[in-house]
Amino acid sequence: MYPFTFTKAAGIREAIDAGRRGGRYIAGGTTLVDLMRETVERPETLIDIAALPLGEVTVTGRGTLRIGALVRMAEAAAHPKVRTTYPVISQALELSASAQLRNMATIGGNIMQRTRCTYFRDVSAACNKRRPGSGCAALQGINRSHAILGTSDRCVATHPSDVAVAFAALEATVHLLGPDGQRTVTFADFLLQPGTTPEREQNLRPGELITAVEIPAHPRPLKSGYLKVRDRQSYEFALTSAAVALQVRAGVIREAKVAVGGVGTVPWKLPAVERHLIGQRPSDSLWIAAAALAADGARPLTHNRFKVELLKRTVERQLRVVGGSA
Ligand SMILES: Cc1cc2nc3c(=O)[nH]c(=O)nc-3n(C[C@H](O)[C@H](O)[C@H](O)COP(=O)(O)OP(=O)(O)OC[C@H]3O[C@@H](n4cnc5c(N)ncnc54)[C@H](O)[C@@H]3O)c2cc1C
Repeated sequence: MYPFTFTKAAGIREAIDAGRRGGRYIAGGTTLVDLMRETVERPETLIDIAALPLGEVTVTGRGTLRIGALVRMAEAAAHPKVRTTYPVISQALELSASAQLRNMATIGGNIMQRTRCTYFRDVSAACNKRRPGSGCAALQGINRSHAILGTSDRCVATHPSDVAVAFAALEATVHLLGPDGQRTVTFADFLLQPGTTPEREQNLRPGELITAVEIPAHPRPLKSGYLKVRDRQSYEFALTSAAVALQVRAGVIREAKVAVGGVGTVPWKLPAVERHLIGQRPSDSLWIAAAALAADGARPLTHNRFKVELLKRTVERQLRVVGGSA
């Protein structure tokens, strides 16, 4: 470790002022502290935001679900409204990390977490994300767990969050408060693909604080769920995952929301799959045909070609689980 200063923010305004001066927010600390210990990150000032009043889950009259940035993963997963209206969120959270981590970690920290790419976390390796211009050791290295979608020649690291995949599927928005006031960003615009600047990961301005993630009111009834495929059944990040939400009325699919994880540099929405499903009757052949589109545009690397087929099968299985096999 190295010396740094630690301040507890007394209020949201004080936190943002300190953030504007270059301080780094810390919420549950379950990932930032690890990165500091490994010297992957070296913030000079930490601003503890854990006591700020951003820990509520609320539902508006129209059915919009708002999850405060400081709601713990375990609390969000167990919240009765989340469980009943969006099981895909509860399931994604419960399949993340461990019970101890979920009791400490927050929703804001979760979507801000950095990649688990081993080269990013090894300070002796080349990594454009950690040290811009130094190269990407994963391109020629062991890249079994890396991304096949949204990659660039500068970076092929996956985004590791599970619940972010559910948020992407449900077209969530991220609410931000900063020195220049409030802003709302769609989830699709919040997490950034690497392109030529892999060190820029989020659409965040200096000092901006995430205050909440909001899920728009989707037409009801909506069935949803999350499937995570990994090397071992617990305490492991996804090789592939799928968040699916379907509204079936009078035997026809009216709404389809699908996003996948473990395969993209950001949670990957599948609009072509969604379009293929809408207006159709649920059937095995429909699930197979829609899932066949899931890996369109994939650019596999030496060790992760298996993800192309695994991704299609993950989507197919989760469509069948949520939509039934009539
Ligand atoms: C062993 C292990 C296994 C894990 N497995 C999984 C898994 O399977 N799936 C999964 O999804 N996650 C997994 N995680 C990640 C875990 O979910 C994250 O560590 C956690 O969600 C981070 O939340 P936190 O509150 O502790 O964030 P912190 O560590 O406090 O902060 C993380 C980052 O977010 C920023 N930040 C925090 N809150 C805000 C805010 N409100 N506004 C702006 N910036 C903010 C911080 O500045 C920091 O950069 C795992 C972690 C570990 C250590």
